[in-house]
Amino acid sequence: MLTYENFYDSPLNNETPDQQDPTKGALKILEWAYQTYGNSLVYACSFGAESMVLIDMIATVQPDARLVFLDTGLHFQETYDLIEEVKERYPSLDIVMQKPSLTVDEQREQYGSALWSRNPDQCCYIRKVKPLEDALSGATAWISGLRRSQSPTRANTNFINKDDRFQSIKICPLIYWSWDDVWEYIEQHQLPYNKLHDQNYPSIGCIPCTTQVTDADDERSGRWANFQKTECGLHATPQSTK
Ligand code: SF4
Repeated sequence: MLTYENFYDSPLNNETPDQQDPTKGALKILEWAYQTYGNSLVYACSFGAESMVLIDMIATVQPDARLVFLDTGLHFQETYDLIEEVKERYPSLDIVMQKPSLTVDEQREQYGSALWSRNPDQCCYIRKVKPLEDALSGATAWISGLRRSQSPTRANTNFINKDDRFQSIKICPLIYWSWDDVWEYIEQHQLPYNKLHDQNYPSIGCIPCTTQVTDADDERSGRWANFQKTECGLHATPQSTK
């Protein structure tokens, strides 16, 4: 089995998706992933638009798959409403609300108010990175909805990646999908989605760090808009998050 310790570049990474495959290789990768790792596989789900596509496909491959949502306690009500809709539509999925060790109030007492506005890396570490580390303990591999066209930092992502951050295998089935592909799938399958997408929020995270997009060509320009920060740390190397 492909693991972090014996990682080799999988031949699946060299395959160009079949032109006839509407999922651009995603379904094949998910089938391989669940056959290989079974139910120990974790999908770190943000409930963004890409998540709706992945959830729909995963539900056909592994109906009792484990999804982990990093519940920072700072998400929009629209995001929590969507999670309830997803639970109703896919009742056999195991959706885990993974919380940080500190509540928002405890973080304020320990680090001062609005840590996200002074040190977002530290805030993301406490509320997202460490909780995912805890959720992945014991898991050999995890799934992420990264797409290559989302940002330059994601342009070299493969289907199957050696993840030094969590010493795990990171599987990214949607690397060849465009933003338009995602919405075409959502519309064709009449999937639920976060209503904030209709209000110019292509990428949705915590309330303090998410705004409407400032650059129509940059899907992630509404995240940490006042900082030189484009990632929460889940997709960085260990050195760059400390
Ligand atoms: Fe904190 Fe913002 Fe990161 Fe959320 S996105 S964990 S509020 S810094």
